[in-house]
Amino acid sequence: MLRDFFLGSIKIHILYHADVEPIYGAFLMEELASHGYEISPGTLYPTLNSLYTNGLLHKYEETVNGKVRKYYTITDKGRLTLEEGKQQVRELAREVLNENHRRNE
Ligand SMILES: [Zn+2]
Repeated sequence: MLRDFFLGSIKIHILYHADVEPIYGAFLMEELASHGYEISPGTLYPTLNSLYTNGLLHKYEETVNGKVRKYYTITDKGRLTLEEGKQQVRELAREVLNENHRRNE
């Protein structure tokens, strides 16, 4: 059940970083691990690819130390999706992290 939520969080995370700078798989694995997300290449790469095929990320290749690396940057559509995602995170946090709320009676 929480797996869908996990993947959604990862997607928002990816879009956020792709908005800041060009990103690549190994960078994301490390970055996500530092936030406590253990994600395997078998999950990360299909997720990146689905963001790409849905038009949320641009992709380009560059050779780094003789190896071809795929970089991703955010598209305009990706930026709109990121804004929606941020709005949802904000709303969710506002409700579930609000410790002063009154319980329903
Ligand atoms: Zn991050």
